[in-house]
Amino acid sequence: MSDFKINTKCVQSGYRPGNGEPRQIPIIQSTTFKYDTSEAMGKLFDLEESGYFYSRLQNPTCDIVAAKITDMEGGAAGMLTSSGQAANFFALFNICEAGSHIVASSSIYGGTFNLISVTMAKMGIEVTFVSPDADEDELNSAFKENTRAMFGESIANPALTVLDIEKFARVAHAHNVPLIVDNTFPTPVQLRPIEWGADIVTHSTTKYMDGHGAAVGGAIVDSGNFDWMAHKDMYKGLTTPDESYHGITYAEKFGKAAFITKCTAQLMRDLGCIQSPQNAFLLNMGLESLHVRMKRHAKNGLSVAEFLSGNKNVEKVNYPHLKGDQYYKLAKKYMPKGGCGVVSFELKGGREAAEIFMKNLRLAAIETHVADARTCCLNPATSTHRQMSDEQLKAAGIPAGLIRISCGLEDKDDLIADLKQALEKL
Ligand SMILES: *Cc1c(COP(=O)(O)O)cnc(C)c1O
Repeated sequence: MSDFKINTKCVQSGYRPGNGEPRQIPIIQSTTFKYDTSEAMGKLFDLEESGYFYSRLQNPTCDIVAAKITDMEGGAAGMLTSSGQAANFFALFNICEAGSHIVASSSIYGGTFNLISVTMAKMGIEVTFVSPDADEDELNSAFKENTRAMFGESIANPALTVLDIEKFARVAHAHNVPLIVDNTFPTPVQLRPIEWGADIVTHSTTKYMDGHGAAVGGAIVDSGNFDWMAHKDMYKGLTTPDESYHGITYAEKFGKAAFITKCTAQLMRDLGCIQSPQNAFLLNMGLESLHVRMKRHAKNGLSVAEFLSGNKNVEKVNYPHLKGDQYYKLAKKYMPKGGCGVVSFELKGGREAAEIFMKNLRLAAIETHVADARTCCLNPATSTHRQMSDEQLKAAGIPAGLIRISCGLEDKDDLIADLKQALEKL
């Protein structure tokens, strides 16, 4: 980890060109790498030496960008994946197998909820969901003998709950289990979960890190703080010899890089969810301005939330940094500089009101996306959740009139004027 401030890390970490080398990161668009002798290449296959031989495992462009994100999060090692879904799956599957159990916050992204509760269940991995607001006794009671990971989102998509990371880390560690935090929404510019006790951090880089709606991607960063060898019987994949690599034991040989090395050597080798070098290049362009953009996203988010909370057609506004929000205290503690640009609010008048409102927006586009430079919004009841009745929506905690708006980088006065004129049509 470098000593630079986060603003500098966004711009400069991960890549230091030598004399006469390109200033911008090179896109190594090559599947394979050349060696002079079989012996030299054999050392790479045995993980005896580090180097590149096939881009399904590692690629120099991807490694530069992974190193930047690792430095930004204050971690020890990191890697890129093809998507946020792949990042969360790899982070969990690297320490879980058939017969394992996960404790996860119930307030998480729908795709991750499905991944854990449906797809990973088919692999024989069980889950217990807990409320992010549960007290420590309640969280403790969710753990079992076979629990191997605890999971939550720092700011949850789309519920906008804020995870009490210190509380979750305390409980996880009391059960000898690492805490994995999906930090997609705040990004390390606003919040660094490792500083609060999280062990592993994941990202959908598709969102703010890319920030321009250009490339789907993911990242995993390991703090290197979790002592796998101290819980040898629980994490055999890291603490006993891997026969597919001549009997090396990751936790012994790679120390703080053990988790990421195993994740690359086994999961990337066997499942191959790599980020393309071209996408990693685009992601790095996004990272170079992330600190500047997050400030504006957060400012626009708060301004829009404040405007909406005073409108007569609006029943309720959810935005952690809005005074009076249920998560205001946690938001201020973990993200003193601000949050992100995503706000959700409930219109009086339900589904019909939502339809009229959305139809009249001029700047905010209707999209199933968030965290883009351009403002976009979504009414779950008439889009992602349209098969559900009003009663079912209510039971799921999604009122029919709920709108999720992702405030982009436009001028806040224009955004508010757009919302105002659409609200006046109701
Ligand atoms: C979008 C998202 C994901 C999934 O990421 P993809 O890049 O779409 O695969 C995971 N977690 C959170 C919090 C997200 O917002």
